[in-house]
Amino acid sequence: MASAVAAQTKYETVIGLEIHVQLKTATKLFCSCPTRFGAEQNRNTCPICLGNPGVLPVLNRQAVDFAILAGLALNCEIAPLTKFDRKQYFYPDLPKGYQISQYDRPICGMGYLEVMGQKIRITRAHLEEDAGKLVHAGAAGLAGSTHSLVDLNRAGVPLLEIVSEPDIRSSEQARAYAETLRNIVRYLGICDGNLEEGSLRCDANVSIRPMGATEYGTKAELKNMNSFRSIQRAIDYEVQRQIEIVESGERVVQESRLWNDATGTSAPMRSKEEAHDYRYFPEPDLRPLVIPVEWINDLKAKMPELPEQRLARLKDQFGLSDYDASVLVEFKELGDFFDEAAEYTTHYKALTNWLMGDITGYLKSSQKKLEDSKLTPKALAEMIAMVDSSKISTAIAKKLIPDMVETGKSAEALVEEQGLAQVSDEGEIRKICEQVIADNPDNVAQFRAGKEKLFGFFVGQAMKLSRGKANPELVNRLMGELLKQ
Ligand code: ADP
Ligand code: ZN
Ligand code: MG
Repeated sequence: MASAVAAQTKYETVIGLEIHVQLKTATKLFCSCPTRFGAEQNRNTCPICLGNPGVLPVLNRQAVDFAILAGLALNCEIAPLTKFDRKQYFYPDLPKGYQISQYDRPICGMGYLEVMGQKIRITRAHLEEDAGKLVHAGAAGLAGSTHSLVDLNRAGVPLLEIVSEPDIRSSEQARAYAETLRNIVRYLGICDGNLEEGSLRCDANVSIRPMGATEYGTKAELKNMNSFRSIQRAIDYEVQRQIEIVESGERVVQESRLWNDATGTSAPMRSKEEAHDYRYFPEPDLRPLVIPVEWINDLKAKMPELPEQRLARLKDQFGLSDYDASVLVEFKELGDFFDEAAEYTTHYKALTNWLMGDITGYLKSSQKKLEDSKLTPKALAEMIAMVDSSKISTAIAKKLIPDMVETGKSAEALVEEQGLAQVSDEGEIRKICEQVIADNPDNVAQFRAGKEKLFGFFVGQAMKLSRGKANPELVNRLMGELLKQ
């Protein structure tokens, strides 16, 4: 393997990403069919998205709004005039025989995204319609299938294709770029950003060149990665493959390759088309679109908070640590929950601890998402107040979390129901401590003979006897006094 390591330092990796963002509009890009996922096959269709003759497309304003919002967040120039073009190719899931896309005047021009402290330039972002989906039927899987069916529900759903410059230099940076972009579109509310479900699709263009070279090598395009991890793995595999080709004196061929996550390998899919293969020409059924400055300014005013801004605010406004704040930014729903709960409590550290600790833990172990939880931000804030005022112990609070998540009941109601209120009555706790001492004469003798670390055992027994309800500070103090007697 020594030679492989040497070879890796001999070459530089060059990566450019093309990311398709499925825009969360209510209707399709050029017709009023709903975009809702999971509808019965071919239900969300009409003569326009079926490509019937004699119909005309009408541009969806919300898709344009979303594209402009994305462009602004990615520091892109928004084109004052943009237009649509036909991209011709034949595929059974493309009813018109062409796709309406944008060729020479994309809606968003040059921009950049900052990733791991480095600016990755964005070449452009353009609007286009999605194709339908082929379902290979008959026997199991593609290989043994006897026929294919087509579902056109997705045909005409708006996509924003965001193309980066070949500025990325490692698989790790490529993954971080994709994750950052995903987070931004989720914060903008324009896309679910779900790689598994395909609402965000990432193609990676990868080449290598001798370290220090100024010209780019021939690239291969990788497709079909449906997680961030597989983006990174597919690139690592490809870099290694290209190094081996070059080291053996061969040339890399320009092609599209399909990543197979199960085998951890990729295979050639097709040789890559050139732009002229698509015979682009201006879409005659849509007028060029003029975007006045007022339109852009309107959207600027409505721009939601972006991940970077939230990070700064969480630290500023609530004094959260870098780590806590970044977790709340990374998991948007958690951050939203925090922001709401912060209106009912000022104990922000407790809030982050509960959210990132027990609540996330319980959701994970019960395979639920925060959206599925019935716990409200207000109820969590109230529970924190009960711990802070010693109405319940932290141990009891931990026990309440699953019930709060499952039932949506307040901590107070659950404490009442289950008789869990903290006992701070000295007399009662003294009785419990005396009971523990009476039950464990051997340990008492050892403790009194100097084995002081047994103290924890006595406190533990007392807490257990009280079913976790005894005020731990009182138990500590009274147990200490009683054992010294
Ligand atoms: P094509 O004409 O094959 O579509 P483009 O020049 O339009 O190629 O670039 C498509 C994507 O590939 C962009 O994200 C770009 O940054 C990236 N890219 C271009 N050349 C290279 C290269 N030599 N190595 C890696 N990525 C590249
Ligand atoms: Zn339609
Ligand atoms: Mg291109």
